[in-house]
Amino acid sequence: MDLRAALKATFGHDDFRPYQEAIIESVMEGRDTLGVLPTGAGKSLCYQFPAMLLPRPTLVVSPLIALMKDQLDGLPPEVYPQATLINSSVDGEELSRRLGGIEAGQYKLIYAAPERLRQQGFLRLLQRVGLSLLVVDEAHCVSVWGHDFRPDYLFIRKALDALNEAGHAPNVLALTATATPEMQLEIGAQLGRSLTAINAPMFRPNLRLEVLRCQNADDKMRRLVEVLRETPGAAIVYASSRDRCERLARFLNERGLPAAHYHAGLDPDTRRETQERFMLGKTRVIVATIAFGMGVDKANVRLVAHFSVSESLEAYTQEAGRAGRDGKPARCVLLYAPSDKTSLSRWLRQGDIKLATVRDVYRALQAALGKGEGTISPGQLVAQAFGQNGEPDADAGSQLRVAISLLERCGLVARQPDAGRDLNIAMLRAPKEARTDLEAILEARTRHAETRLNEIVGYVEGGQCRHATIARHFGQDMPDCGDACDVCLGLVQVQSAPAAASARPAMPTAEEVPDLGRAILQTIQSLPFP
Ligand code: ADP
Repeated sequence: MDLRAALKATFGHDDFRPYQEAIIESVMEGRDTLGVLPTGAGKSLCYQFPAMLLPRPTLVVSPLIALMKDQLDGLPPEVYPQATLINSSVDGEELSRRLGGIEAGQYKLIYAAPERLRQQGFLRLLQRVGLSLLVVDEAHCVSVWGHDFRPDYLFIRKALDALNEAGHAPNVLALTATATPEMQLEIGAQLGRSLTAINAPMFRPNLRLEVLRCQNADDKMRRLVEVLRETPGAAIVYASSRDRCERLARFLNERGLPAAHYHAGLDPDTRRETQERFMLGKTRVIVATIAFGMGVDKANVRLVAHFSVSESLEAYTQEAGRAGRDGKPARCVLLYAPSDKTSLSRWLRQGDIKLATVRDVYRALQAALGKGEGTISPGQLVAQAFGQNGEPDADAGSQLRVAISLLERCGLVARQPDAGRDLNIAMLRAPKEARTDLEAILEARTRHAETRLNEIVGYVEGGQCRHATIARHFGQDMPDCGDACDVCLGLVQVQSAPAAASARPAMPTAEEVPDLGRAILQTIQSLPFP
């Protein structure tokens, strides 16, 4: 088949971008594939195009509602009618209409949120219809150790097994912008497939990577204003807390830099409106927590500034990578003060799931279900476990899901396909190893978090080409960029420490990262396991 002619006819593009063709060929030849392409390189086409050619539908599992809607709205007119979207924003008659359309074979491209795969009805429908391809978008979300872990992604494997049983095992295409070699192996393992990896170079020469060393937060604010004044065009400023976002946005506005804040605490309408104004160029600067990001498809962002250090080099690469998607020059500036390392490790300790949380969730499940099986709403469970009433907020919801997936991994509970919005959970007889398993998992999570912290600190303090540092982190070799980072441009003031020493990632001291392993062990003794 002439793939280029088909590309022109359906998507109107004259040719494939580098690496798109290799990924598409691999998919069309029936191989389970992992494509690692930097942001803006054109990942969507890698499945949208095969979807139009394959005999059965393609299911795209994607983590964010906003992302799916943008993707769908961006489809060319020839493709749009053959695509649909199933997530919690669609219900009632519209949902029945779309599910009916899938059953009738009307769609070639189906976008769904991962939690949908937990629903028996939806799985049965897929078993009847059969799929040619299952696409795992943002595949790094499957990594238990990663910064974006989504427990619902672990259910993809069960869905694949269910489809297999029905005699329609689809091929798999996993896509992400960032995956270290270790994470690439984990993605295959979690999906239960051996994946052919196609890695594009991480290096994006249009991005100028810089670290600005500041004295303290006030100094950072001053430097941020300078950077924004020097760099015309749309900018994203990442900050670590909601409060910081609001204060920074106010501060910038007072200095004549039109800015809005964005975080998970805003109501959905305000969030949507804030995002839209930024996308349309009506607000120049958005000051946001990491809640703003994945799926923000604005091509002409000229600056991504980090007021606080990201929790890992993967996270930083993802966030900074939102600059310059149009291929034109853009800056990625990380503002760093010596005290940041301490705040990061404190934050890391707070952010990681606590053993007490896992225990509280387990107790709440025991109280609700005894030793049996049953359904329970996430709201009820959050109220029982954390004493929080009403709809669970995003943080509580995510802690709850992570806690349940940890209990599941230790064989304490089994999560069945959901019943509507309710969770369907069976309590299992606690295996003897449950305690040691949970202990090991939590310890490993802590170790991974510490390693990630060291890697990002190594990037900041390393004194080596920043692009090459990132490339190496992702298992790629490249010569120094020469002119696309502050180190190569000679803009970094030489520190008093010798270069060789500063090139090593600085290990956090005992005060900064206490012995979490021991703390976990102590808490675990109080777990109510038989
Ligand atoms: P990613 O998901 O990798 O960040 P997208 O899939 O959103 O990137 O694609 C980025 C942009 O590139 C989109 O506007 C898309 O239409 C465009 N694009 C993708 N492939 C091609 C191609 N072969 N030729 C021209 N434009 C393309």
